[in-house]
Amino acid sequence: MESVTLTYPDGDRRLTALDAVSLRVAAGELAAIVGPSGSGKSSLLAVAATLLRPDEGRVIVAGEDTARLGARARTALRRERVGIVFQQSNLLPSLTALEQLLVVEDLRGRGARRVRAARGRAAELLESVGLDGPVQRRRPHQLSGGERQRVNIARALFGGPSVLLVDEPTSALDHERGERIVELLAEVTRRHRTATVLVTHDHGLLGRADRVLSMADGRLAPPPHRPEARER
Ligand code: ADP
Ligand code: MG
Repeated sequence: MESVTLTYPDGDRRLTALDAVSLRVAAGELAAIVGPSGSGKSSLLAVAATLLRPDEGRVIVAGEDTARLGARARTALRRERVGIVFQQSNLLPSLTALEQLLVVEDLRGRGARRVRAARGRAAELLESVGLDGPVQRRRPHQLSGGERQRVNIARALFGGPSVLLVDEPTSALDHERGERIVELLAEVTRRHRTATVLVTHDHGLLGRADRVLSMADGRLAPPPHRPEARER
């Protein structure tokens, strides 16, 4: 993101949610953004995901300047290159963990045979985030909060994204489970070489990040206290 500014309508004025934000995240890097509620974290992810168009500035995903793309090409780019884990778990209540991943394949317009072929890949991916056979056949209400987040992460990774955007993944979890989710995000970032942006208001979870930035009033700044980048 280069000098991105985003405003929302606010009565007869406009509210500046992102104020000249620049952020570059490399493949295989986990960048964490901390900041209080209302500071613009979710807005930043929405712009990075090309769900919202910025008023100013550029958003480049996997080398592609998204402003140059038409609506269809942008949707395709988002589907193929961007994995999103939203703040609210949006798993479909009637589907098993495995089916949550396969429904994406369905939406991509692939035929039944492709969907069957994808089953093995989905099962493997779920296994890799710590969800084994029997758990894969459970529906969301039969999963713990941590397990649901693991499904969300696996689903976001299923299309092989270049960019992984994660909004407050630990807000519904206790500290220990939250830590394990962040650990998992660090792991999948290395393994899948995603450029990962993790947004959180929990400062206690940042040890696994390569870089920590703080956000306040729509502005992004490095924190006064910068942890050493971890070895890859
Ligand atoms: P955070 O995720 O850090 O809590 P947000 O990005 O959700 O912050 O919000 C940043 C600011 O933009 C807040 O002042 C919020 O009230 C405002 N905002 C967010 N979404 C909208 C919207 N759809 N319409 C108007 N204002 C919004
Ligand atoms: Mg938010």
